[in-house]
Amino acid sequence: MPITKERIVAKHTVAPKPPTKTELLNKLAAVSGMPRKQVASVLDTLAAQIKRTLDTSGMITVFGLLKIEKKIVPACPTWPAYVKVSVLPELLPGPDGYCRRGLHTYHESPAGNDQGHPICGACGRDEIDWERLHARNIADADYTIRQLNTDRFRHKWWSKDLDAVAVRNALRKGSSGIKDTVRKRVVASVGRVSRMDNGMVKPFRDGAQTPFHGNIIFYGQHATATCCRKCIEVWHGIPWGRDLTQQETDYLVELLMAYIAFKLPKVRILPSKPEK
Ligand SMILES: [Zn+2]
Ligand SMILES: [Zn+2]
Repeated sequence: MPITKERIVAKHTVAPKPPTKTELLNKLAAVSGMPRKQVASVLDTLAAQIKRTLDTSGMITVFGLLKIEKKIVPACPTWPAYVKVSVLPELLPGPDGYCRRGLHTYHESPAGNDQGHPICGACGRDEIDWERLHARNIADADYTIRQLNTDRFRHKWWSKDLDAVAVRNALRKGSSGIKDTVRKRVVASVGRVSRMDNGMVKPFRDGAQTPFHGNIIFYGQHATATCCRKCIEVWHGIPWGRDLTQQETDYLVELLMAYIAFKLPKVRILPSKPEK
């Protein structure tokens, strides 16, 4: 393709600009796996600590998230001291970061073991007992949930805060009324496959049927790998190209209920700040 004027202009308009506070918060939250609110409070503490320690040289670490280095250069009249703030190296992406914290990359990993199960795409870890997961024994859900939490992508959904709409919905429904809704959602989103015009049988819009916000059940589906038939096949061993059986549906519903039982007690509406 010839380089046109438009393309050059477009290239210039995407020149890097400094991140906004929100972007920085999002980035730190993603990198650290901590909820945004917690990151914001870390940054506030950080600012306070920098103020307090500005007259001494050295390094402080805030909640295992950021590293602050301070150097004194007595001979330099303009910058006698400077402070360097950086994310701790073990929190940075890649095998040096997430894997060391026990968060591996099984989700969409390009690498697999001899049985065709995923291994960590970053460090090659292969310690999940997939046969045990695929037995789909709800009495063994603790093991399944622990393994889901060793996956970076799944762990994010177990640990992240729900958005405001999801919180409102969850509180309105409460834990007693929610099971029917969970069942309906499982059946509607991943329960059935459809026959295409060319005779092929496949789940409808697989991989795109579960939104990423607005409902605690959506969060739960990403957390428990019940979001699409591809994830269900990998984590729960149910073949992709057919309807779910009653028993399989029951199992996935129970896993989602375990997520909701874990999450719901933590769901609170914070009182809004009084107007000044
Ligand atoms: Zn790993
Ligand atoms: Zn999925």
